[in-house]
Amino acid sequence: MKLIFIGTGSGKVEVDIFHASYLIYNSEIKLLLDCGDSVSRALLNNKININSITHILISHNHPDHFMGLPNLINQMHLLNRKKDLTIFTHVNLVEATRYLLYMNYIFDEKLSFNLNVVAFEHETSLSIQDVLKVIPVRNNHIRNKYNVKSVNESYFVSSSFIIQSKTNSVLFTSDLMDERDLNLFEKYEVKYLFLESTHIDFTKLNGYRTIQDADKIFLTHYEKDKIKIIQKQLKKLNPSIVSKMFFIRQSEMLKF
Ligand SMILES: [Zn+2]
Ligand SMILES: [Zn+2]
Repeated sequence: MKLIFIGTGSGKVEVDIFHASYLIYNSEIKLLLDCGDSVSRALLNNKININSITHILISHNHPDHFMGLPNLINQMHLLNRKKDLTIFTHVNLVEATRYLLYMNYIFDEKLSFNLNVVAFEHETSLSIQDVLKVIPVRNNHIRNKYNVKSVNESYFVSSSFIIQSKTNSVLFTSDLMDERDLNLFEKYEVKYLFLESTHIDFTKLNGYRTIQDADKIFLTHYEKDKIKIIQKQLKKLNPSIVSKMFFIRQSEMLKF
């Protein structure tokens, strides 16, 4: 498998960096993990043919992970897409995803292609064309965060993903509550860890098994101004962990 970091930014809009998003692909599939605001432009910036994307996987509905979706679908339609597209989202968010598309005048019967919104459930693996196995794991990023009584609590759901190919197992944290959420992944073997760096205190990472056991840790989802703060925090971390950590630049490519 190959991976392109479409964006590595945080939730904050910045001039020269896009929100965190990944394209995971081989000759058979192109899976886009998260599609925040401006993802269509981010894909063009990376010279990705928008219609080559076969599947989209959504971690949660914050705008930096979700709000690029309607325009991305619209771009596919404008480019006269013919092949099917599958969007995976948590079962509690299927309705909201559909509604977002309707509110943007995107209707199944008007699209040039079949759009399937498929529900996943946590800890239940889904197979993507027998090429990838995805295990969604609930994290605590937005659990109990808003305390809004008028909205059903079931909407406040956020997922991380273990993604397994025939030869490898990787973890995309997407957004976490904080570093304590790393305990949620202990039972999974993870070779590469894609660690969001906005909600993490790097001085506290030493004891976590997932951190210790990963071969490499790729840091993403950080705003440019935070790099210096993270680098300071890394001084308090075990050097053997720091030596396998990498700040990822936008457009960087990886094989795994
Ligand atoms: Zn985010
Ligand atoms: Zn978020």
